[in-house]
Amino acid sequence: MKNLLKDIAPVTLMGPGPSCVHPSVLEALSKPTLGHLDPEFIRIMDAIKDQLKTLLHTDNELTIPISGTGSAGMECCFVNLIEKDDPVLILVNGVFGMRMQDVATRLGAQVDTLEFDWGTPVIVDVVQKKLKEKSYKLVAVVHAETSTGVQNPVPGIGNLLKDSDTLFLVDAVTSFGGVEIRMDEWGIDVLYSGTQKCLSCPPGLSPVSFSPAAAAALQARKTKVPNWYLDLSLIMNYWEGATRAYHHTAPVNMLYGLFQALFLILEEGETRVYERHMENHRRLVLALDNQGIHMVVDASCRLPMLNAVYIPDGVDDAAVRSRLLKTHKIEIGAGLGNFAGKIWRIGLMGHTARSKNVDKLAASLKTVC
Ligand SMILES: *Cc1c(COP(=O)(O)O)cnc(C)c1O
Repeated sequence: MKNLLKDIAPVTLMGPGPSCVHPSVLEALSKPTLGHLDPEFIRIMDAIKDQLKTLLHTDNELTIPISGTGSAGMECCFVNLIEKDDPVLILVNGVFGMRMQDVATRLGAQVDTLEFDWGTPVIVDVVQKKLKEKSYKLVAVVHAETSTGVQNPVPGIGNLLKDSDTLFLVDAVTSFGGVEIRMDEWGIDVLYSGTQKCLSCPPGLSPVSFSPAAAAALQARKTKVPNWYLDLSLIMNYWEGATRAYHHTAPVNMLYGLFQALFLILEEGETRVYERHMENHRRLVLALDNQGIHMVVDASCRLPMLNAVYIPDGVDDAAVRSRLLKTHKIEIGAGLGNFAGKIWRIGLMGHTARSKNVDKLAASLKTVC
């Protein structure tokens, strides 16, 4: 049998994820596999918890990576906190808000949604009005809506919930590592992310963090968490305490990768990393504008790491993306849902956010459009 791995050539990943993996992260993945209860490995686990707490700006003890991609983190947060008939409000302005609605509904929550136009942000005043009408156990929003390129006003929504018993859940899959997140200051109780967007790491892990209030809600459940694999009350016994108990075998080498990815951000400097995303975003907007390719989202709420652009009139969406990939080894993303066939999604996430990638894409688009 032919070894299919031999033919893999690097692709510049400029879509909505996965993004380019830093070479030192790939190297970290190939370190010798240790036992999942080896004291040396447990030291690495503890260091990862500290790195996550530092970068999320939180004191939450329950801050750990879940085995699985970003969606596993989403599932984990909902499944640990929701019981049948719990009133939940989901703010929806794209695909990932819709996915949260689906996950919460499957768990038997009483789900209300507030919907906002795709390509525009959640409006805080509208949320405030809704919260005056009804009280919720949990309010959820996507920080960086990868399907549209919009950054939602997380601090503003958090402000509305600060003195309430309502838990505030934030999807930070695409935002973490690309824009600042101040979990405690912004009143976020529950957060999940993923390794494959702005952390320059392959897909496979999902950092989650629960505030003391969220951890208390988990303790106060009347029923068992209905999913064994993602039950944090069991997983905690592996990630905390003097003696660690086996739950499931940790994806050891993926955790090396995450350690290295977070190490890189701390080494470069958190602020510098966010600036690099912003600078390359500006460079891309300018370059594309000169070619008549324009942004979907207003500058006031644009994401630096996910650039939604209108496909120019008369241009064949699929043909251009396929030529970019075949001829130039660059991947960009198609539009999803309402935006299918209308937009492209250009990612500048993590290691991808470099000027040489922006320049290469702009030059290549010129030849294939
Ligand atoms: C990518 C993404 C997810 C899902 O992550 P997977 O790694 O694909 O499971 C969830 N939310 C947002 C905002 C995302 O961009």
